[in-house]
Order: sequence, then structure tokens, then C-alpha cells
Amino acid sequence: MGVAKQLYQLQEVDLEVESNEQALRQMVSQLGESEAVVRVQSKLTSEQQRLDELRHQQHSAEWEIDDLVSKLTAAEGQLYGGRIRNPKELTNLQHEVDVLKAKRDQLENRALEIMDQVELAEASFTATSSELKKLEAEWHRQQQQLSADIEVLKSKLSDLKHKRQLLSAEVDPQAVEFYDKLRKQKGQAVAKVEQGICRGCRISLPFSELQQARSGNPVQCSSCGRILFLP
Ligand SMILES: [Zn+2]
Repeated sequence: MGVAKQLYQLQEVDLEVESNEQALRQMVSQLGESEAVVRVQSKLTSEQQRLDELRHQQHSAEWEIDDLVSKLTAAEGQLYGGRIRNPKELTNLQHEVDVLKAKRDQLENRALEIMDQVELAEASFTATSSELKKLEAEWHRQQQQLSADIEVLKSKLSDLKHKRQLLSAEVDPQAVEFYDKLRKQKGQAVAKVEQGICRGCRISLPFSELQQARSGNPVQCSSCGRILFLP
């Protein structure tokens, strides 16, 4: 086998290694936290805080109502108990009862409003919880798949690197060294020749270069400097 062909095969492996390494980096960068999960977690935390706050308000309103009801019961007891007969005192008591009743009604309305809000907040919290559960399960599944894919790719890469070692061991070391240098400079060191054209720079090659390349020995394209390979 000509050196040009050996180097071309080496390049095929090198390019495959390169694209697999790129894919591996991309996969590794996807490992870790999920933005969507973090966002929904923080939404759930603030919904929990809102719910706690509303429940606290609800209990406070209930205690205030209890307090008012016992004051009202005491005032009505005095008003209808028959022990107070002074009309002015009775008028005052009646007024106090009316004020307490109005306050109680107001608070009861407020408590109902809070209860509605609690129900809404609870429904929202439940929905967000199940959304989070779903997202976390999906994320977990993806991460597991990703880890498995990464392992497969790593082992493929190690096979490719082994293949590269075997291939390069068969080629003249100086040629490999020259190839490596060209690869660094140009990305692709070996260019296929098709219909007399160098695929590296798309220039028609002079007859003499084509003939030299046909011999299988490494010839550089006079235009782009790549090693020419005639399949
Ligand atoms: Zn060229």
C-alpha cells in the first residue's frame, strides 16, 4: 500500500476521533442541573411561602372572629339579661352590639375571601408539584441516557485511538510526523484527487503531479500543499 493511502486512512480515523471528541464534549456539557427543574423548584418554593402566609392569615381571621363572637355574646347577654334598665346604658349596649356584629360580618367576609385564595393557592401548588415531579423524572431519565451514551462514545474513542496507533505504526515515522504537522496547519493533511482535481483546494493538478501521485508516494499539491491521494 502506498504511503499516501496509508496517510489517508490515518486521516479518516483522525477525523472520526475529532468529531467523536466534539460530540463527547457536547454531551458532557449537558450533564448536571436542568434549568427547567431549577426554575420550577423555585416556583414551588414561592408558592409554598404564599400558601403558608395565606393559612396564617386564615387562622388569624378565625381567632379574631372567635374573639368577637365571645364579646358579642357577652354584650347581648347584658342587653337582654334584664339586669340593666337604664335607657341610656341600654342604648349604648345596643350600639356596642351593632358595632360588634358589623365587625364580625366584615371579618367573616374577609375569612371567606382568604379561604378562596387558600383553595386557589393549594390547587396551584399541587399542579406545580406534579409538574416538578414529571420534570425531575424526565431529567433523571435523560441524564441516565446521556451517561450511557457517554460511556459508549468513550469506548468507541478508545477503539479508534487504538486503531490509529496500529495504523500509524505501519507507516514510515517521518511521513507520520510530516502528516501530523500538516494536519495541525490545515485541518486536513491529505487531499483526495478526483478527476485530476485536488479536493483540498479544487485546483486542476498538472500532469506531472498526477503522475507522481499515481506512484503512491507522498506528493504535495503545488497549490495547497496537502499530500495528494489518488484512490
Ligand atoms: Zn490542493
